[in-house]
Amino acid sequence: MAAQPALTNEQIDAYRKRLSATDVEPGELREIALRLLADNDEWYSRADHWRESYRLAAGMTDDELNARIAIDEATKRHPRPCPFPESPDCSCPGD
Ligand SMILES: [Zn+2]
Repeated sequence: MAAQPALTNEQIDAYRKRLSATDVEPGELREIALRLLADNDEWYSRADHWRESYRLAAGMTDDELNARIAIDEATKRHPRPCPFPESPDCSCPGD
């Protein structure tokens, strides 16, 4: 599938409104769902590309980069109400 430009926040808000509208047709629902999934895939592929670029620039193996991410996660401060490490889902604001 050809990459489409990433959705803007305004477009996502518009889709959200359409999804909660009572007059939305199945065809439109399908179209919105497919567009949102494509957008999600695009974000993940960009994140993967960024990660790989960083890994190569830093001269690390995949395992080394994974270890570094794990160490960063384990050693950073997780003030409450972040549930880490009881839950792996860190809710701290990004730095
Ligand atoms: Zn946290």
